[in-house]
Amino acid sequence: ALTIAIVGLPNVGKSTLFNALTKNSVLAANYPFATIEPNVGIVNLPDARLAKLAEVFGSERILPAPVSFVDIAGIVKGASEGEGLGNKFLANIREADAIAQVVRAFSDEDVVHVDGKVNPASDMETINTELVLADLQTVEKAIERYEKEVKTKRTEPIVLETAKAARDWLNEGKPLSANTKLDLEPIRELGLLTAKPFIYVFNVDEDVLGDKAKLDELAALVAPAKAVFLDAKLESELIELEPDEAAELLASTGQEESGLDQLARIGFATLGLQTYLTAGPKETRAWTIPQGAKAPQAAGVIHTDFEKGFIKAEVISFEDLMETGSVAEARAKGKARMEGKDYVMQDGDVVEFRFNV
Ligand code: GDP
Repeated sequence: ALTIAIVGLPNVGKSTLFNALTKNSVLAANYPFATIEPNVGIVNLPDARLAKLAEVFGSERILPAPVSFVDIAGIVKGASEGEGLGNKFLANIREADAIAQVVRAFSDEDVVHVDGKVNPASDMETINTELVLADLQTVEKAIERYEKEVKTKRTEPIVLETAKAARDWLNEGKPLSANTKLDLEPIRELGLLTAKPFIYVFNVDEDVLGDKAKLDELAALVAPAKAVFLDAKLESELIELEPDEAAELLASTGQEESGLDQLARIGFATLGLQTYLTAGPKETRAWTIPQGAKAPQAAGVIHTDFEKGFIKAEVISFEDLMETGSVAEARAKGKARMEGKDYVMQDGDVVEFRFNV
């Protein structure tokens, strides 16, 4: 499943946020194939369409698309130099699809800041520098290896050239994502951290959540990257409440959506993903696919055999299904389409696959 690594300086609220995420993981019991590690928390992608669809089909249960978060041991200044912690930390973070950096913006005097004062801009600089240094190490090691391998023709020269270009860029202290000209595909195996999509999670005081000017100011620090604003303490309280009580508390802070939900939604969008839907009496379910995925690839997310044996897909858009009220009526009105292997899936397609096994 889609995984987002959580990083940040010590004492910024990572554990607090992560506890809220793991409490949420009871929901993960719905996903029998997902092994839940202690450092993994899951949030369901909020999707109001699912309940409506489940009603039409009389589904027994609803399975939203899961978004997993991995808690990574805290980064401190110099983390990239410490071999021990460094390597373990790097291995975890390298496997993630995206990185969410938690940044402290709350002002509690009882919580010590590692640098003595709350300064989001300088905190982000510290973390980003560590990530650049970590990538630089990775690339330098890889270059030594690639040089040998190119000589013995085990590796294409383009791989070595790309690694060198990446090294030169990183040497200027800049993240690889800022280099729009460099195609990193040849060195994809390195899992370079600063090439991953990045989300900033500002842990703010509760009263700041409703303060648009203050939030805009923080968002401007990271644009064009996406920012999520939440109060980790509030999130850990929300997760303990019944849904209607939680909604009430949330509303009292001027928010429509919990920080965890925001994080799932923005994480999803940052990664260029979308969902399609399946529904029946047993379950209504959302499946995660990349934007632009074609029908057989979408079928493969349910089962690899579905992709191999793909024949066609019967597709009804969610809106058409809601308008017509049932699959039979959608068919009668010509709203159910038979799509072949070149069909590009659209977000919210309600699908039934036909396949050979
Ligand atoms: P970590 O080191 O990044 O994992 O930070 P923790 O989650 O352990 O939080 C460090 C301290 O800050 C703890 O005492 C938390 O209770 C407190 N804390 C975390 N989030 C918030 C917040 O949003 N507001 C306030 N006032 N305190 C927080």
